[in-house]
Amino acid sequence: MNRSRCTESLAEGESGRGERVGLFGGSFDPVHWGHLMVALAAQEELRLTRLRFIPTNQSPFKPDRVLAPGAFRLRLLRLALAGRTGWDVDDSELRRGGVSYTIDTVQAAARQHPGAELYWILGADHLAYLPQWREAEALAALVRFVMVPRPGEVSGPVPPPFRVICLKGTPVAVSASQVRSRIQAGLSVDLFLPGAVAEAIRNNRLYLDA
Ligand code: ATP
Repeated sequence: MNRSRCTESLAEGESGRGERVGLFGGSFDPVHWGHLMVALAAQEELRLTRLRFIPTNQSPFKPDRVLAPGAFRLRLLRLALAGRTGWDVDDSELRRGGVSYTIDTVQAAARQHPGAELYWILGADHLAYLPQWREAEALAALVRFVMVPRPGEVSGPVPPPFRVICLKGTPVAVSASQVRSRIQAGLSVDLFLPGAVAEAIRNNRLYLDA
């Protein structure tokens, strides 16, 4: 990651007071260690008081992508987060149904957490798409975007009017597509995601078909 792309840094002493909520959206199809290391970086580097994982119902950028049913992705996320204080799953995009727009999710989060500083967390591969997000400017006024490095991804310049905080993170080269491909190829995914998640995938025979 080229750090000169980052337009913001955390001001000294900024992380001291008030509620600081991280919003981490994604397909989580399935959740893996890459996601969890992103979350850990955000929690530690931003000193979040709360971190919400938000599984998408349908990404506007991947209209043809068929995801595993929301109930399964939700269950795997809950298994992955079990016992982690301050981390939870927000199923609002699944309950809303249809195409999931971040502006709707963030407006709801702003209502739920009045006065909180909100951060939207994303991997470096998603940065270039920001200007295409629905009501992007309204969104930029409500949240601060946080970019976490992703192995193999070089982020482009930060598109105005967005402000992006770049974290150091602990990059882990795992992707959900790689996990799905390995399962289809009959390979183990035990080292790619938490044990309870791997076990639930096996028990429910998930991701066996392309
Ligand atoms: P797929 O391979 O199916 O496209 P994915 O592994 O990229 O999935 P998503 O659920 O689509 O996972 O990603 C949710 C968010 O997490 C995105 O912002 C993505 O950039 C980020 N992310 C996922 N894996 C990593 C990783 N290994 N390192 C950094 N960021 C990641």
